[in-house]
Amino acid sequence: MFEVVIGLEVHVQLNTKTKLFCSCPTSFNHRQNTNTCPTCLALPGALPVLNKEVLHKSVMFGTAVDATINQTSYFDRKSYFYPDSPSAYQITQLYTPIVEHGKLRIDFEDGSHKVIRINRAHIEADAGKNIHDGPVSKVDLNRAGTPLLEIVSEPDMRSAEEVTLYLKKLHSIIRYLDIGDANMQEGSFRVDVNVSIRPKGDEKLYTRVEIKNINSFRFIQRAIELEVARQSEAWEDGIYESEIVQETRLFDQVKQETRSMRGKEEAADYRYFPEPDLLKAVVTDEMIEEFSKIPELPDEKMERFVKDYGMSEYNAMVVTSSLEMAHFFEGMMQEGISAKNALTWLTVELQGRFKGEVNISNSPIDAKKLGFLVKRIEDGTISGKAAKEVLDYLMEKGGEVDEAIDTLGLKQVSDTGAIEAICDAVINANQDKVAEYKGGKDKLFGFFVGQVMKESKGSANPATVNEILKAKLG
Ligand code: ADP
Ligand code: MG
Ligand code: ZN
Repeated sequence: MFEVVIGLEVHVQLNTKTKLFCSCPTSFNHRQNTNTCPTCLALPGALPVLNKEVLHKSVMFGTAVDATINQTSYFDRKSYFYPDSPSAYQITQLYTPIVEHGKLRIDFEDGSHKVIRINRAHIEADAGKNIHDGPVSKVDLNRAGTPLLEIVSEPDMRSAEEVTLYLKKLHSIIRYLDIGDANMQEGSFRVDVNVSIRPKGDEKLYTRVEIKNINSFRFIQRAIELEVARQSEAWEDGIYESEIVQETRLFDQVKQETRSMRGKEEAADYRYFPEPDLLKAVVTDEMIEEFSKIPELPDEKMERFVKDYGMSEYNAMVVTSSLEMAHFFEGMMQEGISAKNALTWLTVELQGRFKGEVNISNSPIDAKKLGFLVKRIEDGTISGKAAKEVLDYLMEKGGEVDEAIDTLGLKQVSDTGAIEAICDAVINANQDKVAEYKGGKDKLFGFFVGQVMKESKGSANPATVNEILKAKLG
């Protein structure tokens, strides 16, 4: 009876070499407060200078989501005090964001699609970090002034599933464009979730709450579930008006609840005004020309995979969801194998064997090797079952596919003479079963195949075994 309405704000740290308004490096893991200068420390008299690389990466993003690029955009001051923000204001873009009116397509498992509108993406400066250390709190300003692109969606999502699909697509676009690391745990991809509910069929937007900084997909799903339950219960209990107020809430993973953090500020509370220390940001026609050159994106790659490899859209989406996966898959396909086998051996067998820190980008087996292993199944050298053993072996010991097959003695016997001899022996030893089979008990065929496979210690080519047994048993 209720419909869930969700809009997302995502802060993406742009991976520029230097900060937004000064030449301090953005690299992290440096000693605290060493990547700082008078500008990002907000010392009196220091003036900001806009980093052109930030414009470049923002335009790339805008191009990728089919948005309008505002070739002239402005910066604004958002005033608030926080210990990790020495200027007591944040430079952001309120009135004219650099990117507006984009769209992002999400793909469902059943092959259907939905377009989520992007309201805007604007440039802003990150704050430093407060480090709470027992009774002491410290401030590290290394991150202060790092460029962020805040990407704001329209309230177009209707379920936690759609949120996950949107975030995964957004994440992969950032990675494809290589404009940010987009690492949720490290805080370079930070998500705020705005949630409201409304009676089904109602077009009006009801009061939303904002749940801030949830750092995993699982927690985001859970926070939405909890918040939707809280709001619908309040509605059903007749206390919606008093209970559900516009506010910022925190997700507590231990207590499994969302709880109020602070009332929601209105824009006026921040005393926004045009930033007087900066000129307008101008993206010239030549810059547009240069900055809008972007690599193949997930959707395009997916469509190409569907066409070139005859895959379903969903499977193509699975392998194009990250650039690393897509490269790996295409590397395997160069061995001339079937897309179906490549997909299974990549997503089920290889990824199923990853443990701990191991993933596709530091896999102990490269694409060529895994592709070649699949080729050895397809050309009948080994069985699929044997290939799993070979993969275990290669992951542990390294080495080449053919060597491993020899070492493990797994080469499949396709030599008809040898298989025929085993079949004869099995038939002779089981005359009673042969009689039953000939008497109509068709199911026994599997028994004979099994016996032959067992006698050959799994090395007989099953297709050949089937063929010979069929001929011999009639
Ligand atoms: P602010 O910056 O104050 O958080 P914005 O106008 O930028 O406000 O909107 C923040 C987000 O809230 C957007 O992603 C928008 O889609 C979403 N949103 C707005 N109204 C609702 C609503 N009623 N329910 C759910 N999400 C909403
Ligand atoms: Mg907000
Ligand atoms: Zn600096």
